[in-house]
Amino acid sequence: MERIYLSPPHMGTAERELLLEAFDSNWIAPLGPMVDAFEQEFAAYVEAPFAAALSSGTGAIHLALILMGIGQGDKVYVPSLTFSGSANPVTYVGAEPVLLDAEERTWNLCPARLAEALAEDAKRGTLPKAVMIVHLYGQAAEVDEIVALCQQYEVPILEDAAEAVGTRYRGRHVGNDGVLSIYSFNGNKIMSTSGGGMLVGADEAMIQRARFLATQAREPAPHYQHEVIGYNYRMSNLLAAVGRGQLQVIEDRVAARRANFDHYQQVLGALPGLSFTQEPEGDRGTRWLTVMQIDRDTFGASPEDLRLALEEQNIEARPLWKPMHMQPVFRDCRMVGGAVAERLFENGLCLPSGSALTQEQREHIIGVVSASAKALS
Ligand SMILES: *Cc1c(COP(=O)(O)O)cnc(C)c1O
Repeated sequence: MERIYLSPPHMGTAERELLLEAFDSNWIAPLGPMVDAFEQEFAAYVEAPFAAALSSGTGAIHLALILMGIGQGDKVYVPSLTFSGSANPVTYVGAEPVLLDAEERTWNLCPARLAEALAEDAKRGTLPKAVMIVHLYGQAAEVDEIVALCQQYEVPILEDAAEAVGTRYRGRHVGNDGVLSIYSFNGNKIMSTSGGGMLVGADEAMIQRARFLATQAREPAPHYQHEVIGYNYRMSNLLAAVGRGQLQVIEDRVAARRANFDHYQQVLGALPGLSFTQEPEGDRGTRWLTVMQIDRDTFGASPEDLRLALEEQNIEARPLWKPMHMQPVFRDCRMVGGAVAERLFENGLCLPSGSALTQEQREHIIGVVSASAKALS
């Protein structure tokens, strides 16, 4: 049986044609017309005014933090339940992540914990320089509540929408509530350029500055003049061509991932001990990955038992992102709450969720999960 991956890339014919067009034009790198077009088309899709195509989502967060003036000794609130790519760049600029717990409904930054932390820090005069919102697994966070709190304390927002290309919150695309927002096109994301990212925002000068910093901060002079520290973070013209192709089919990709979720939920949700998150009314998440919560006593197997049973059939399933406050590298960071993120992590399992997953593969996966329930209970 051929291996079923968690979230493999899904390329189509337009990607191939655009890639060859870029290749044949000899406009391999860096930058070029494909990059300009990809930026414009992506911004139009997410309904954001401006976008800069970069080499990764992590690099995009790094530049966003610099552009927001965050540096040595500053604090940034980051949800603990996320990928390390959200938290790592905070340390690149010498700032300190303050980790906050998740909430039950969306698994994202908990507004109650946020209110608590902001009130406490306001009293001590140590408010953070930014609050990072992450839309985990393509489910929008409680944006309105978070925005209201951040406005009250005048703390700017940075949105990590790496897993949420196509996510709508109350009808509008996520990624428009932060000063800056980022997306990722890494290999396992909902659309992929093999590796890449996008920084979007409403402030044109900021986005232009991002492009400048991402090209080694090269001043417009023929002799390589540099006045600030720069980075090599731009996207190549070849990869932008792939991105343009992926963007043409993004709505189909979202629909396919949502169909995976619906099917898993319909069949597996009927088994005792397995549950799935409900989508809050008015939202349209990407369901980037389908994640189950497993009550091991009722179901009769732990998430790890189940992962191994799937692995035996050459099916890749994975635990949730391990919360940052449980990671040795962020051990010393301040943590606000934590029980919710820990429980979600300990009881969760991500099922294969690629947009090219076939009906047959899905049935195979469902069969293994169902058999585990019976066999081990
Ligand atoms: C993938 C991801 C990133 C990092 O994006 P890269 O393009 O892989 O650097 C950041 N945050 C989250 C939540 C992600 O899932």
